[in-house]
Amino acid sequence: MKHEKALVWFRRDLRDHDHAALSAALAEAGEVHCAFVFDTEILAALPSRHDRRVQFIHESLLELDSALRAKGGGLIVVHGPASTEIPQLACQLGVSAVYANRDYEPGAKRRDAEVAARLAADGIAFKGCKDQAIFDGDEVLTQAGKPFSVFTPYKNAWLKRLTAADWAEYRCTGQFAPGPANGIPTLAELGFAATDLHEVGIRPGMSGAEALWDDFREQRILRYGSLRDFPAVKGVSYLSVHLRFGTLSIRQLVREAVSREADVWLSELIWRDFYFMILDRHPQVVSQAFKPEYDAIRWADWPAGFAAWCEGRTGYPLVDAAMRQLKHSGWMHNRLRMIVASFLTKDLGIDWRLGERYFAEQLIDFDLSANNGGWQWASSSGCDAQPYFRIFNPVTQSEKFDPEGKFIRRYVPELTKVANKYIHAPWLIGRIEQEALGVVIGRDYPGPIVDHAKARDETLARYAVVKR
Ligand code: FAD
Repeated sequence: MKHEKALVWFRRDLRDHDHAALSAALAEAGEVHCAFVFDTEILAALPSRHDRRVQFIHESLLELDSALRAKGGGLIVVHGPASTEIPQLACQLGVSAVYANRDYEPGAKRRDAEVAARLAADGIAFKGCKDQAIFDGDEVLTQAGKPFSVFTPYKNAWLKRLTAADWAEYRCTGQFAPGPANGIPTLAELGFAATDLHEVGIRPGMSGAEALWDDFREQRILRYGSLRDFPAVKGVSYLSVHLRFGTLSIRQLVREAVSREADVWLSELIWRDFYFMILDRHPQVVSQAFKPEYDAIRWADWPAGFAAWCEGRTGYPLVDAAMRQLKHSGWMHNRLRMIVASFLTKDLGIDWRLGERYFAEQLIDFDLSANNGGWQWASSSGCDAQPYFRIFNPVTQSEKFDPEGKFIRRYVPELTKVANKYIHAPWLIGRIEQEALGVVIGRDYPGPIVDHAKARDETLARYAVVKR
């Protein structure tokens, strides 16, 4: 039955094209309103009032609003708790259905259930659509009908299931209700301040996403497999923040990856679906190890070690460069995320949850599913994680993936003058040479916070509880 009026609730899907909920609402209703809620329950929990993500959302909404106005619509932007604001707005507008794209995070699922119940009490339907993933958590299952816990068989089943219908574009045409007369609240009205988002090279909105995507698609998508592990090289797509906020569509990316046979890159997009599925089907991972036996590990209580890691002064140059990149730009290269996560858990012996939380505060692309998945992978407690006895050596990783120290020098200027031979382990430079270079270890740059070989033995002992 066609509804008279519907409301589309935008969340992490800030675009006006190839949008499942918008497409369904436009097809099923005579007139469609569009809204976004700056949810005070989420905003209040952010540790800083200078949050690049809030600015990213804000600017993306300005662009979305203009795009919708060009189609005869516009965006209603509300500031308050979404769980009550959406039902109230739906009643005020007199809609008979609210459409939203599904979110797999446990908190979001709880909120959506609350909204659905409130709407139902007023006789309004709540319709969830699949949009941010190619497959929902219950669509790719083992032969026994269970969720996968290992990536490769999941990926094979995912690929086997994939057809052109899964990446088909959702057309977003129909009748929009005119947008509100009042504009979008300013960042200051939301209680936030402008950040260095533009200075660190991030361009929000659909236009920002498109520019990055065009660049990657034309220049690098087919070379991704050989370039992706080198942080000093422009090899990856840098699309994560846009995927996080939905300023471009996953279907568009999968369509292109399949048609260009960009298999290595497609695999990364499948990892994204895999971790959505894990979070959807195993919500306990938010606070617990996926493999429960790993919760028996006794982690080191070492605030000074944690602070040195956060601030990029562990004395291991690549770890420090990576942590400084995170603080400086809100983004970190994937190879480095793996190295620093391994370093925190297996060199410093610190609980992965502390690292996970720090990443959640700092990353502009923070996504609970991928972040939790990445941390549990690195600490070996996750599904399909690397085995606990596989411990990255921060020096050999550095030699392999930043052989000339180009990335290190970009973020650790103290070491600019150090020769390539010593850039990965500068403490090996003789004292006299250190003085001559003006890079005295312990004075100009820290000595290594732990001895890797010793830390490795301690980690094997710490993880021994898992075997029992
Ligand atoms: P590309 O290499 O170009 O990959 C394309 C897209 O695929 C990414 O944008 C992302 O959406 C997806 N993707 C790639 N790798 C993964 C992966 N391992 N898991 C899930 N999706 C993936 N990614 C986030 O988006 N948010 C996070 O909070 C996050 N935290 C991480 C924490 C740790 C400890 C680790 C090891 C990885 C984490 N990742 C996270 C995954 C990955 O590091 C980033 O997605 C990637 O570095 C983003 O850069 P890109 O867009 O250039 O990626």
